Amino acid sequence: MVTKLFKKTVDLIYPPICPFCESVIKSGQMWCEDCYEKFPENGYFTEFSKDYVCVSPFIYKEPFREAVLRFKFNELPQLADSLSEPVYRSINEFYENFEFDFVTCVPLSKKRFKKRGYNQAKLIAKNVAVKMNVPYADLLIKIKENAEQHNLPEEKRASNVEGVYQTINNEKISEKTILLIDDVLTTGSTLAECCKMLEIRGAAKVFCATITVVHNENN
Ligand SMILES: [Zn+2]
Repeated sequence: MVTKLFKKTVDLIYPPICPFCESVIKSGQMWCEDCYEKFPENGYFTEFSKDYVCVSPFIYKEPFREAVLRFKFNELPQLADSLSEPVYRSINEFYENFEFDFVTCVPLSKKRFKKRGYNQAKLIAKNVAVKMNVPYADLLIKIKENAEQHNLPEEKRASNVEGVYQTINNEKISEKTILLIDDVLTTGSTLAECCKMLEIRGAAKVFCATITVVHNENN
């Protein structure tokens, strides 16, 4: 009862909004009807960096691109609820035959985390873990501050992330099947580096999922 009342009060002060167009939605809804109509029928399965795969419900274009940016930069961590549901659906669509031991995420550096106050990928990963009934674990940390990937040309992105991540909680990595979450798949350099670090620590297999995937004109 208290929780319900609390939720109603919060809804009055911060009315729930559609993550894709910012229109006010009813409490309990995850997105508006108009945006839902724009959802692609199927998610996307991407092979990247030769060895790795990623699933994503959306292509990085409007209105989905804007939702990711809003979630990440406009201090709207509450959008994680709505954005994790399509990710979960894509995981079910493509990875239904796999059993995961842990869900984890691409970490932020301490500095970036301090500035933003939350890690958008972690919020999605934690929500997805609850939906999948698989434990969430922090398995990676970012030990070096590097240039932002989106500011770099494609050929410099792999070297920019090299040696930037380190594993933690290694007992939860060895021989385990891990689902790694991030917000956007672009060239896949970041995800590939994180997968590689987990595999060096003995992960049996690492699969990735993101909210959106960047599709170039030629692929
Ligand atoms: Zn909408």
